[in-house]
Amino acid sequence: MWIRPLRTKIKKNIIILYAPNYFVLDWIQNKYINYFQYILHDLCNFKPPVIIILIKKKINSYLFKKKKENFIPESQFSNLKNHFNAFKKFSGINKKYNFHNFIEGESNQLARYSSYQLASNFKQSYNPLFLYGSTGLGKTHLLHAIGNSILKEKKYAKVAYMHSECFIQNMINALKKNTIEKFKNYYRSVDVLLIDDIQFFSKKKHSQDELFHTFNTLFEKKQKIILTSNCYPKRIKGLSDLLKSRFNWGLTVSITAPKINTRVKILLYKAHEKKILLPKEVALFIAKKIYSNVRELEGALNKIQIKAHFNKKKITLELAKKTLKNAIQKKKISIKNIQNTVVEYFKIKISDLISKKRSRSITEPRQIAMALSKKLTNYSFSEIGFAFGGKDHTTVLYACKKIKNSKKNKKNYFYQDFLNILNKLIN
Ligand code: ADP
Ligand code: MG
Repeated sequence: MWIRPLRTKIKKNIIILYAPNYFVLDWIQNKYINYFQYILHDLCNFKPPVIIILIKKKINSYLFKKKKENFIPESQFSNLKNHFNAFKKFSGINKKYNFHNFIEGESNQLARYSSYQLASNFKQSYNPLFLYGSTGLGKTHLLHAIGNSILKEKKYAKVAYMHSECFIQNMINALKKNTIEKFKNYYRSVDVLLIDDIQFFSKKKHSQDELFHTFNTLFEKKQKIILTSNCYPKRIKGLSDLLKSRFNWGLTVSITAPKINTRVKILLYKAHEKKILLPKEVALFIAKKIYSNVRELEGALNKIQIKAHFNKKKITLELAKKTLKNAIQKKKISIKNIQNTVVEYFKIKISDLISKKRSRSITEPRQIAMALSKKLTNYSFSEIGFAFGGKDHTTVLYACKKIKNSKKNKKNYFYQDFLNILNKLIN
């Protein structure tokens, strides 16, 4: 929200950041600038550049556009119904992801194949297609690839990509504004509905009912539904049995972490795409170090590239080793692991940790566990909130900030507890 709208310009040893308005400028100045500076220090061996922030009015329109992509204004539901072009504009499909740039390996072969089959012959294939697997393994990529592939063949197909959170948010907005009928018509008029991260529907009864009706309508009309989630559909907690059984009517396929040869292939492909000169031995080194998440693999490559760029050096094994020295293979530690370690340390119950209880003896361990989950796993704020009994992402964000602030006061027992548990987990 704050960082993406910024535009940058580099002049000698100065980095100019353009913010769309004073509000953003202030926010960046207060909350992020030190952090940026800290990263620059870390990246540059020579004198790090100075950062200044200015206002640039023009990028307001960019912000506006971005918003539109994610949330469909209700006024559009009715207009969209029969206007294919408008529909395409709001389809939410990201052109960046296709089958061509999805590297196949043993771990994702079936998922890729089923997705490709569905896209090539979407009238005939199974319904629904359900892809599941942990975070950063290409589920969202495949959803967009299906969408793009169908739109390439059938320009006028009505394909809609929707993250579950957006579906829920759009529904709430429609309810507030009395436009629920338009909302329903919109979702029920598509040829192909791609819904990402279905686990976000957990415990949201109203939204689940709406999804259930949408599902039935689309299914009866033989329109396609493709869904993803972070675990096997039957295991999603807080989801109605009716929905779970519907999800199993078609084909359910898992994606697992890629093996080393696929990880190397992905790295070499990404490097080629970004015009980064990546020696094979370095690709192998990164692939050995990071083994369970493609997003992290990309992140490591970017980090190395930035370091090489700032130091005006080529990418070598030595530089990669230095850059990734402290990289923790995050996925090894699960949120469950963290929760168990925290309750054991504080001698409290798991059920309390994920409850709504607000006494200090529970909230503090909960905040520590949340902050550790953010530090040691790849889950997003929302996903972590979800794993703690359906808390909001802002609660997790708050916990992380609290830990960060308590760091300043090293004698603080709260921070000490955090460090003790962190040590337990990573050693
Ligand atoms: P998920 O939705 O499962 O959390 P994403 O689809 O967002 O994961 O993938 C994370 C990143 O990794 C994306 O940039 C995606 O392009 C990339 N990625 C994942 N799997 C592959 C793959 N097999 N080939 C190329 N890129 C991949
Ligand atoms: Mg995803």
